[in-house]
Parts: sequence; C-alpha cells; structure tokens
Amino acid sequence: MSENIVPVEPEHVACAVCMKQIPKDVAKSFEGEEYVLHFCGLECYAQWQQQAQQDNGKNNG
Ligand SMILES: [Zn+2]
Repeated sequence: MSENIVPVEPEHVACAVCMKQIPKDVAKSFEGEEYVLHFCGLECYAQWQQQAQQDNGKNNG
C-alpha cells in the first residue's frame, strides 16, 4: 500500500465585508469581545471600520 500524500489545505475564512474566501494565514483579523472578524485586505478592513463608526454615531444623541 502506498501512502497518499494529501496536500493540507489551509483553513479558509470568509471576509466580513466582501465574503470572499481567504486563507486564514493571510486574513487580517479583528478580535472583538465575543467574535473574530476576518478581512481579505486592509481595504475591506477600513471599509468595515468606517461602517462600524457610522453605526456607533447613530446612537449619539
Ligand atoms: Zn474583503
């Protein structure tokens, strides 16, 4: 019996903004209090950050 060498696939995660599947290795991650978000790049991370700030601003006043 010969061993089958199966390439180990890196774990993938979905970008929180564009939902693209990205290897966990290269994902930018943001750890919240009870959750972890992943981003495919700084562009999506910035976009999410802007949105989060806007959401927070709504409660102001
Ligand atoms: Zn993305």
